[in-house]
Amino acid sequence: MTQMPINMDHHWLPFTNNRLFHKEPQMFARAEGVRYWTPEGREILDGSSGLFTCAAGHGRKEIAEAVYKQLQVLDYSPHFQRAAPISFELAEALSGILPEGLDRIFFGSSGSEAVDSAIKICLAYHKAKGEPQRTRFVSRAWAYHGVNLGGTSLAGMVNNRRDFSGVTCDVVHMRHTWNEDQRFTRGQPQDGAWIAEDLEEICKTYGGETIAAVFVEPIAGSIGTIVPPVGYLQKLREIADKYGILLVFDEVITGFGRTGSAFAAQEFGVTPDVMTMAKAITNGAIPMSAVAVKTEIQKAVIDSITADRPELMHGYTYSAHPVACAAALATLGIYKTEGLFERAASLSSTFLDGVFSLRNLPHVHDLRGHGMMSGIQLTPGETPGAKGSLVQRKLFDEGLHVKATGDALIFAPALTTSEEDLSMMIDVLQKVLGKAEL
Ligand code: PMP
Repeated sequence: MTQMPINMDHHWLPFTNNRLFHKEPQMFARAEGVRYWTPEGREILDGSSGLFTCAAGHGRKEIAEAVYKQLQVLDYSPHFQRAAPISFELAEALSGILPEGLDRIFFGSSGSEAVDSAIKICLAYHKAKGEPQRTRFVSRAWAYHGVNLGGTSLAGMVNNRRDFSGVTCDVVHMRHTWNEDQRFTRGQPQDGAWIAEDLEEICKTYGGETIAAVFVEPIAGSIGTIVPPVGYLQKLREIADKYGILLVFDEVITGFGRTGSAFAAQEFGVTPDVMTMAKAITNGAIPMSAVAVKTEIQKAVIDSITADRPELMHGYTYSAHPVACAAALATLGIYKTEGLFERAASLSSTFLDGVFSLRNLPHVHDLRGHGMMSGIQLTPGETPGAKGSLVQRKLFDEGLHVKATGDALIFAPALTTSEEDLSMMIDVLQKVLGKAEL
């Protein structure tokens, strides 16, 4: 590979300090397995599965072939009383791995679209059931639910919400479940189910009958992997049921084997009413997302149909895009044939051994993890987030891609990662986090 002169003036990069990027560009030109290569040909191990997208590793030929084939057969199919057969095939395949009862599926192209679609579906459901006053939502401090307006309203990461007030919807936030006293807990903390009582308090304060839904990431991902305390999700389920509130799990990161089960809902034994998913649904190869809802939710909304309009005035040009459906079906095929959800469950202990080997390094403040997902919280520096960015950069220089969020790293390699590659990734983390001076 040779370095090409690139004009970087025109692309406004998302979630990036564009000026800094222009000074110190970090680019990926090629990927295969659990490796990226820079345009200069330098090899970088992928410790974050892209952005938790590429669970089956990069460059999967099965997906490339399915996409190429589909493009030649049916490149696009419209909505408005039209659909493509492949979309039904995918919805059926997904319902086969989703928790029982979650078997009606609406498609979009991104996690943010899935979240905003879920918000509208919850509103439509309550309206159909004769409770149009349920327009308020509950989410959690430190939550990330995408960046469309609904997801921005739900955001508990305040930086993602602060500059966009005036256009957001009514959301009340519960506490997050992280606790300083439980640092270095491997798997689920034993104590903390009581934090779910925040939902009860909110219902009492605002009136449970005004609340449409409560959104949570079963494992809070984008803040740096916060695993729910034992019994916490169960308690949320109980309180939501008591007040007739829909429980929504945002499984955009936790879906498709990341926790060791197909979805975190199954891993933790709690079934939500609505679930959002994206990223690994196509192994990151083609944009796609989905919202799965319980049968009765779709039925209630469908039964509310009037003669003059469809029951849900919502959908995207690229909902259930046939090429994305083909990519997703090929991806599900890989997960099944290679037993990757089971592999994640069995590799987890070696993975977490590696993560927890970082415990006594000078820059490590906390370690958390479950399945093939972990958070490495760095000791705080003077400016919040500065250390996280610096470490992300140093890891890149040493040949490891790991996403930093504030002062935490989200280390979550592909479910296909070999033990040898895993140990190479841990070596790089040890090297960088072990230096007294960063
Ligand atoms: N929800 C969660 C839990 C996420 O982690 C993300 C993305 N990191 C999103 C929603 C938004 O997904 P997208 O970036 O595809 O819009």
